[in-house]
Amino acid sequence: MDQVINNFLEEVKRRNAHEPEFMQAVTEVAQTVLPYIVTQEIYHGKNILMRMVEPERVVMFRVPWIDDQGEIQVNRGYRIEMNSAIGPYKGGLRFHESVNLSILKFLAFEQVFKNALTTLPMGGGKGGADFNPKGKSDGEVMRFCQSFMTELFRHIGPNRDIPAGDIGVGGREIGYMFGQYKRLKNEFTGVLTGKGISWGGSLIRPEATGYGAVYFAQNMLGTRGESFDGKSVVLSGSGNVAQYAAEKCIQLGAKVLTLSDSSGFIHDPEGIDTEKLAHVMYLKNVARKRIDEYVQKYPKASSHKGQKPWGIRCNIAMPCATQNEIDGQDAQTLIANGCYCISEGANMPATPEAIAQFHHHDILYAPGKASNAGGVAVSGLEMAQNSLRYNWTREEVDQRLQDIMQDIHQSCVTYGSEKGKINYEKGANIAGFVKVADAMLAQGVV
Ligand code: NDP
Repeated sequence: MDQVINNFLEEVKRRNAHEPEFMQAVTEVAQTVLPYIVTQEIYHGKNILMRMVEPERVVMFRVPWIDDQGEIQVNRGYRIEMNSAIGPYKGGLRFHESVNLSILKFLAFEQVFKNALTTLPMGGGKGGADFNPKGKSDGEVMRFCQSFMTELFRHIGPNRDIPAGDIGVGGREIGYMFGQYKRLKNEFTGVLTGKGISWGGSLIRPEATGYGAVYFAQNMLGTRGESFDGKSVVLSGSGNVAQYAAEKCIQLGAKVLTLSDSSGFIHDPEGIDTEKLAHVMYLKNVARKRIDEYVQKYPKASSHKGQKPWGIRCNIAMPCATQNEIDGQDAQTLIANGCYCISEGANMPATPEAIAQFHHHDILYAPGKASNAGGVAVSGLEMAQNSLRYNWTREEVDQRLQDIMQDIHQSCVTYGSEKGKINYEKGANIAGFVKVADAMLAQGVV
């Protein structure tokens, strides 16, 4: 079996040299899916996984814009349309200086499996630009978004490709891009998700990824007869996903000890409660400041510049910032300090070495493609509401989100149970693969 996997990965690497994040994501899937394919005759001779790692289409484009000093700037924009076997391409846009083809292809590849797991009819895609919104004025962000959409609009549409937010793309950016799309096309359609409530958005969409990651962890804890009540939680990030993961943890009676951003983390031993979280939301969403300003208002908390929060003792860890933020050493530290449940809010936040540690120590470990699928799931519900020209209540959307996270958990149990344990990574990969591969087989060689 090792030889089959190695040969496959060698061929993928030959075509995708210099794309380490993409290779990391493909390797993780190949190691669990290829052994499954070998046992299933219907997939033999179809080269199905090789077809899945090749994007259906990649668009790269120039994004010129003018800054507040009147200088002309230029960035690079992308859209990866990875797989449309089960529905139109769907996936977020990331604006961050680190964005490149490798990172977006890894995200698009993961998105295909994630979207399949949601049970909703959505293919997978991802896009973005190497634009850094930090420190830019509203006017600069608007001009960038308008220029970005002036090219992207010809490749997307409500039945073709429906982008959403991701790192650096929140409600403000979605608004500017939606406005430009509407102007260019002269039509009001649900072409983006994460829209404002008064112009086609869904209730619970901002909360969905963070809430969903907590609901998934709740399901995992349930397999051991446990809940969030009284547990300590270490969270990374302080953006959209981290904020609402924290909110749901607090609602369920857990104590949230940390939050972070790219400049370091803050540790509040008394717990970040609802009032303190509201201040974080103000700092990050309105004032657009660094997380260490938290300690100015709450001096019993400490700020740790340039560090990650994984050294803080906890029961549950939720990485909600970015890829590869927990390495093998961080994983060992977490486990040594008593952490036994990891639910990924971010995409691919754990390195392969960290994941090996989680499996070795029987940690309840949920890969992002399962545990953070709540965001795209509610995006799917936003699309459904746009088509219906109707809005569901907060309670209705939240209930659907909880049901979907429970279904995803069940799919992982179905395909990932082995020797009395649940391997959520294997379960998520195989469940997602089966749905997409079966649709691809039915549709012929296209
Ligand atoms: P935001 O931009 O709202 O927040 C990102 C947070 O992560 C910020 O606190 C940011 O700090 C921090 N961060 C970003 N890059 C780094 C880095 N290189 N090192 C340390 N910290 C970093 O993004 P989201 O909350 O939307 O996304 C967070 C993660 O969740 C991403 O992996 C994303 O792909 C994933 N995700 C998001 C979904 C969504 O619905 N938004 C859906 C599914 C997954 P700073 O402000 O300093 O940059």
